Amino acid sequence: MGVYAYGRISVGPQAGLSKELHQTMLQAIGRLPYGVPQLKKLLLFMHLDLIEMVLVRQVRLLARRNFALTSFTITVNSCTLDHMAQLGLRKYGWISANGFWSRSGFSFRISHCVDDVQWARIAHEIRDSIRQWHYCRLMTVRKKGTMRHEMVGQVLPPFCADRLALVRRMRKSTIATLLATGSISSAAARLKGQPTHTVVCPCCSEPGAHWGHYWRCWL
Ligand SMILES: [Zn+2]
Repeated sequence: MGVYAYGRISVGPQAGLSKELHQTMLQAIGRLPYGVPQLKKLLLFMHLDLIEMVLVRQVRLLARRNFALTSFTITVNSCTLDHMAQLGLRKYGWISANGFWSRSGFSFRISHCVDDVQWARIAHEIRDSIRQWHYCRLMTVRKKGTMRHEMVGQVLPPFCADRLALVRRMRKSTIATLLATGSISSAAARLKGQPTHTVVCPCCSEPGAHWGHYWRCWL
């Protein structure tokens, strides 16, 4: 990923290339066909998505470029890199005002990103904003004009970085990863597809167990 993300100063990564890499990595970690795309992005691809990782690097690169130019007393002019960083930050909910980028009570200046200690916090916040973006997409209407069936009539709880961190800490095992990304079809869902069979929980043999049952039963 480092190789592909390197040197994006005047052009962003093409969507086609990003998609190809995504497919290759999905094949490497298992295709997880039942998984919820947004949850897979949120939990598995946070450090692997080319376009998102490039944005984090571009913000840091922008700060370093400005710092270097200023130290040579060269006037800093806006260029494509500025534009790409701005577009990316706005996409993930950052608002720019008076030279600060802010979101959810946290704000920073591009010039702060030069400092390693400050940058660690800023990069974390930018990654959290990307996570939140994917999380909110659980409620979006898809091309076919329908919502995810699990979300119909539901209210999405507010994004909580602490809860997400707990899920990520919990998903050390394969089964927990599959559960967290919705990649296992429940006995209830299987039953709908094959009404003539009795489908049971693979762990305790409860017939027609709902997906939520797996969380209590398997973990
Ligand atoms: Zn069970």
